[in-house]
Amino acid sequence: MACGADGLYSRAMTHTLRYSDARFLQSAQTLPQCPGDTGMEVAFAGRSNAGKSSAINVLTRQSKLARISKTPGRTQLINFFSLDEQLRLVDLPGYGYAKVSRAVKVDWERNLADYLQHRQSLRLLVLVMDIRHPLRDYDWQMLKWASHARLPVHILLTKADKFKRGPAKDTLMAVEREIAQAGLDNITLQTFSALKKTGLDDLEAVLNHWLCD
Ligand code: GDP
Repeated sequence: MACGADGLYSRAMTHTLRYSDARFLQSAQTLPQCPGDTGMEVAFAGRSNAGKSSAINVLTRQSKLARISKTPGRTQLINFFSLDEQLRLVDLPGYGYAKVSRAVKVDWERNLADYLQHRQSLRLLVLVMDIRHPLRDYDWQMLKWASHARLPVHILLTKADKFKRGPAKDTLMAVEREIAQAGLDNITLQTFSALKKTGLDDLEAVLNHWLCD
């Protein structure tokens, strides 16, 4: 596995990975179509337009990587990117991207829930939210599924550059409070900006922790 000690925070707690090594592996619609359930993976979810692709592109230092997930025909698929033979990043279908029929939506939700609940190699769900519109219906749905599956969640409040530091911090704390009030645990959160690349070190440290333990 491509884990090596590097950096102050990493040395103390965990290891680092080369996210720039990410390569498109395959797409899947259903759990049985997913690549072999070995090794470890971290999945990214978020409403469409929340900033999920931008976050994945900044993390992997590849401006076009997550565009693969946006090509027609792939938007409703689970897209896998490999870091090496054992480690993967997973781009889950965004919600509200296309006007799809109710039947397609039901299918898509079933496949997502199935993946979140039964995927053994899944270590962490990164839930991307626009900091200006956090905790929408879809986000709660994902949080509840993850909680049901006892899956840790890391919330990325992205587009933080849209706020000054004070209001960004206030939103972070408000979201944290709301989650605690809902009785959900196993959730961490941070602010992020793909535009300014702020919060990238924190995101990497969290992923390193879950992918290299
Ligand atoms: P996705 O549908 O969740 O994958 O969202 P995208 O990554 O495609 O982003 C949606 C829109 O938000 C695009 O116009 C991006 O340029 C913009 N965006 C994404 N991240 C940021 C950010 O950190 N700051 C700002 N200001 N805009 C962002």
